[in-house]
Amino acid sequence: MADLLSLEEALERILGRVTPLEAEDVELSVAAGRVLAADAVAGVDLPPFPSSAMDGFAVRSGDTPGRLPVVARIAAGVPAPRALEAGEAMSIATGGVVPAGADSVIPIEYVVESDNRVEIPVAVVQGDNVRPRGGDVEVGALVVPRGARLGAPQIGAVAAAGLERVAVTRRPRVALLSTGTELRRPGEPLGPGEIYEANGVLLVAALASAGADIELLPAVADDEASHGAALERGLAADVLVTSGGVSVGPHDLVRRILGELGVEEVFWGIAVKPGKPLAFGVRGSTLVFGLPGNPVSSLVGAVVFVRPALLGLQGATVPGPVFFEGRLASAVRRNAQRDEFLRARSSASEDGIVLDPVTGQESHMIARAAAADALVLAPRGEGELAAGERVRYLPLA
Ligand code: AMP
Ligand code: MG
Repeated sequence: MADLLSLEEALERILGRVTPLEAEDVELSVAAGRVLAADAVAGVDLPPFPSSAMDGFAVRSGDTPGRLPVVARIAAGVPAPRALEAGEAMSIATGGVVPAGADSVIPIEYVVESDNRVEIPVAVVQGDNVRPRGGDVEVGALVVPRGARLGAPQIGAVAAAGLERVAVTRRPRVALLSTGTELRRPGEPLGPGEIYEANGVLLVAALASAGADIELLPAVADDEASHGAALERGLAADVLVTSGGVSVGPHDLVRRILGELGVEEVFWGIAVKPGKPLAFGVRGSTLVFGLPGNPVSSLVGAVVFVRPALLGLQGATVPGPVFFEGRLASAVRRNAQRDEFLRARSSASEDGIVLDPVTGQESHMIARAAAADALVLAPRGEGELAAGERVRYLPLA
């Protein structure tokens, strides 16, 4: 493991091997979290007609102030009965069609209505409370671009623009495999030397929000036969993520068996703490991540490297990881050789986000990591980062 790749180089090599998957058409109601495979273009002007922003009275601004006869009442969802003539008012609901001839709407709160007449005490400004046709977006214009992830505002926009279905990239199929003879399922009694298997469900939790379809394979012991069968099965997915067995010990079999199964290793070893022995390879169109077994190493590998690959497979314009900025609550010593991801708890302050590294930063300390909601990047270097120093972080929530 002589040449450790930097964080940036490792990400570049991974994303360099990512080709977006095929597109599929889905109903908008199930498209949240998916990535658009084609531009979503407005099917109508939005709003489709000049519409009232308020409950009130449609008038000609030049007729105000004044006392005007109310000649019609316009509810939402119906056409205006006729054009508004000079000297007239029409009552109108929010979202109602502003009739031709009217240039403004005065809200109901500002007027007094009696005997089918409305007393308007002020001069109304032309255009007030009228939402012009196409003022949000015009028919044929871009609403959400290809490569964008569909969150609530994007889904709402696409629906409002009249689209029933969208083209999204299909979900990547991910197989997860934990390795280690010592691993027992929660609920089983622990024998000597045994521990509970944590990485499988940890990785499901870390990757589900990246739009993947995840299959959690049964963990395997450190023997060649069970590795071979399980890895071959996992290689049928778009992405195989393993945990454990990628270091230099005699029982670390994952890389060798992957090689025997035809996986080309793209790199092994990164200048990142935790996670140094992370391995990445490809077989055909399948991406393979060998994450180190310490649970915090697996977590960091998933958030920093696997997640961006999954978003890249979905054609996301910004696969990430997307860093946020905050300030350290306390000083931390830097690692001279490796960029370090510290587990920290974030809080809001007047000065922005404050990040408090949790006590217990060793890579096996998953219980300590449970207090964290952020991964703070402490770039490699000499000395320490002082309290109050600006740092970049990845949210874990
Ligand atoms: P390895 O990367 O296989 O050398 O494992 C490193 C450390 O992580 C060892 O202490 C393992 O027991 C532990 N470990 C490996 N896999 C898991 C897992 N799935 N869940 C919890 N701990 C694990
Ligand atoms: Mg192991």
